[in-house]
Amino acid sequence: MDKCIFCMIANGEIPSNTIYEDDSFRVILDNGPATKGHALVLPKKHYEGLFDIPEDTLSGAAKVAKKVATRIKDKLGADGLNLIQNNGEAAGQTVMHFHLHIIPRYHDDIQNILWDPTSPSAEELAKVRDEIVG
Ligand code: AMP
Ligand code: ZN
Repeated sequence: MDKCIFCMIANGEIPSNTIYEDDSFRVILDNGPATKGHALVLPKKHYEGLFDIPEDTLSGAAKVAKKVATRIKDKLGADGLNLIQNNGEAAGQTVMHFHLHIIPRYHDDIQNILWDPTSPSAEELAKVRDEIVG
């Protein structure tokens, strides 16, 4: 199996535009950015996504994201910011190494990252609730 590209980037084996690094994480600029400053929080250890990453690594990624996102917003003058984390092909994950997207947003940016809402009935919503908590 080919070596995971984000493992190699996170561990400095191949170059990246790094904007933050500590013992456990590297934050890089996405090379196909949705907006100016789009960055990815990469754990240095390999996890595929939300379902196998340990809770302490996940919370560590959230802490790093808060710190770096605040800096990006201040330095680039963003008007808002999306934090996004895709799990599985159906959710748009293309690189199977956990990563948290930091996407600064600008009033005049061209992106439409939000979803289209649907209109389930009260009964349908309650059925879903019961499926999840049942
Ligand atoms: P996802 O769709 O959540 O798996 O996101 C993968 C992201 O990684 C995309 O936004 C890509 O543009 C980005 N990406 C893929 N390869 C690289 C790379 N070598 N360096 C920087 N970003 C990358
Ligand atoms: Zn990996």
